[in-house]
This record gives sequence, C-alpha cells and structure tokens, in this order.
Amino acid sequence: MGVPAARIVFDESDRTAVAEAVAEILATGAMTLGPWTERFEQAFAAEHGASHAVAVSSGTSALEIVLRTVGVRDRDVVVPAVTFYATAGAVLHAGGRPVIADVDPATLALSPETLAAALTPDTAAVVLVHIGGLITPAVDELRALCNGHGVPLIEDAAHAHGSSLGGRAAGSFGLAGAFSFYPTKVTTSGEGGMILTESPDLRDEARIYRDQGKGSFSTNHHVLPGYSWRISELNAAVGAVHLRRLKEFIETRRAVARRYDEALAGLDGLEPVVEPVGCRSNYYKYVVLLPRGVDRADFKRIAAEEHGVRLSGEVYDLPLHLQPVLSPYRRGPLPAAEDVCARQICLPVHSDMTVDETEQVVDAVSAVLRRLA
Ligand SMILES: *Cc1c(COP(=O)(O)O)cnc(C)c1O
Repeated sequence: MGVPAARIVFDESDRTAVAEAVAEILATGAMTLGPWTERFEQAFAAEHGASHAVAVSSGTSALEIVLRTVGVRDRDVVVPAVTFYATAGAVLHAGGRPVIADVDPATLALSPETLAAALTPDTAAVVLVHIGGLITPAVDELRALCNGHGVPLIEDAAHAHGSSLGGRAAGSFGLAGAFSFYPTKVTTSGEGGMILTESPDLRDEARIYRDQGKGSFSTNHHVLPGYSWRISELNAAVGAVHLRRLKEFIETRRAVARRYDEALAGLDGLEPVVEPVGCRSNYYKYVVLLPRGVDRADFKRIAAEEHGVRLSGEVYDLPLHLQPVLSPYRRGPLPAAEDVCARQICLPVHSDMTVDETEQVVDAVSAVLRRLA
C-alpha cells in the first residue's frame, strides 16, 4: 500500500451528518446565507477566539473583501514571494499593486527586514501568510512595523485553521484573517472562505460586499461595489460538520510531524522548517529543504515509483515574482524565496494518517536521500 499525497477525511458519521443537513436544506429551500452559514461562522469564530466571522465563497474572495474594506485601489500591498498566486491575485482584483517581498528562510514568512525593504510611501496594506500552518514569532514586530507606517496587517490564514502562537489563534494578529476551505485545506467546505475580525465595522462591510453590495438582505439598494461572494448553505453545512474535527485532526497531524522531526534529526542534509518556540502549527504541510544539488524531480519520482510515497504539492515551487502573470510586478531577485522554493518538498500529512504510513514515508525519504545525496 502506498501513501497518497493528500487525503480528504469525512468518516461515516460526518457523511451522515452532511446528508441530514442537505436533506433539511432542500426541504426548507433556504439554500444560501441561512442558518448553516450562521452556525459555521459562529463555530469558526469560537474555535479561533474571534469576535466576528463572515463566511464567503472562497479564500480568495475573503482576502479581496478585506482588501476592499481597507481601500487599496492604485496603491501598494506588500505580499511575500512564497505564497499561492491567490494572495497576489486578491490584491489585483481589489485594484491594488502587489509589492512582492522576500521571506525569512526559517519561517517562510515576511521578516521585519524584508517587510521594511518593501514598504513604500504608497503602501496601503501588508499581507502575512502562515505557510504550512506555521506562524512566525516575528508577527508582533511585523504588526508594530505596520502600525508605524499607519497600514493594517492582514493575515492570509488559508493554511492555518487552528494554528496558534503564544496561545493566540491565526486570524487574530492583525485587522482581519482570511481562511480558505478548498478541499486540500485542513478543514473544507468543498469551496468556501471565512473572514475573522475584531472590527464590527469590517464585519458589516464584508457582509455587504459578499452579497452584491446590497445595503441589506431584503432591499435592492446597492451601496458598495460588491460581487456574488456568498457561500451556499450546502457548502456551509459541509464546513460546519468538518470543523467539529479540527482539534482531533490537528492532534493527529502534530503526532505525524513529531515523528518526522525525530526521524529527520538522524538524517544528514535534510533541513526541516521547524516549528518556532511558542508556535503550535496545524501542520497543513510539513516542509523540508533538500540538500543543494539534489534534484527535486528525481527525489519525488523515486519516492513514488520505488517506495509508493507521493510527496504532496510544494508550498510553493515557484515564488510569486517568477510567476509569468505577475512579471509586471517583478523588481529584482529575491534570493531566500528562490532558494526555499527550489529546494523544498512536503512530506505527506493526513488528518487520519496511520503509524504505518508515517513509517513508510520515513523509510522512503531516508532511502531516497541515501541514493541521491
Ligand atoms: C488556498 C489558498 C488561497 C485561496 O483559497 P481559495 O479558497 O482557493 O480561493 C489563498 N492563499 C493561500 C496561501 C492558499 O493556500
């Protein structure tokens, strides 16, 4: 038996709970922005100790809505080079210009130095991304830097459901946090996103944006340039059911990560991106840097063909400034981002991973490394 790159876990009782919710939704005909959306919002806010949550159609729309409430049109928004395209895409959709900054190779996040180098007089906002679920211990320093420039810090927390630093949850470090429930994320709603914030004004504006900019659900006065960013009740029900598993999923994922930490400590040349002191990652991804000179494609091919272990997608294999569609925003080389994107692999972490599977990955990685390094 091989180990797949990813596995989406809905056990039988969760599948039954979703089926019952769907039957109820179809029977009542309340198919969008109804009681399941509200339940999902309340549960997600409670899970993260946040005051307000607004559920939307995707993680990208969550980020774009937050950027629109800030107002970034024709202004700069700092984003890290190591992230998914959508972080920069949301800036573009909101009318802003992404300024792509280098990262700290130890955390794969913006550092105070790389952020300071990217701030301009025209900066309207800064987006911090918690790659792999890891929250940088520099987050307070980053926020202080933002405060000094009078610009908000926004979290792209698509990877970080339930992650924390010093007991504070992802989504609570800046003006707002944007989460994604795309199927590969730690919990999913099929498609969907969530905004967490302490600001009642941002919450109210986000609700208006998500429903075509309508001043209220029942009138047709459009007061903001909104869009069709609603979440359907069907998706909200899936998300609410899956969210109930978040704590146990994270426990399982962390146990896998601890085993990887222990095994990799005995292997020369592999550099895991380690969890900083005080951080409790959800281990959306377990990121490891390969030794320089080891070919990643060979490494992955041999792991799959000879050991049945599929290494999951990188986060990410190409930094934003080298993405063809973002070439207008390329300013120069970003050496740390280029290095970590070129050398990383992600070991499989599943929310129901077995000890056998974990050991298969450990054996495969050691064998492939012996052969190639
Ligand atoms: C998944 C992801 C998004 C986008 O989420 P969607 O729900 O697919 O729109 C944004 N940022 C990061 C870092 C992501 O991984």
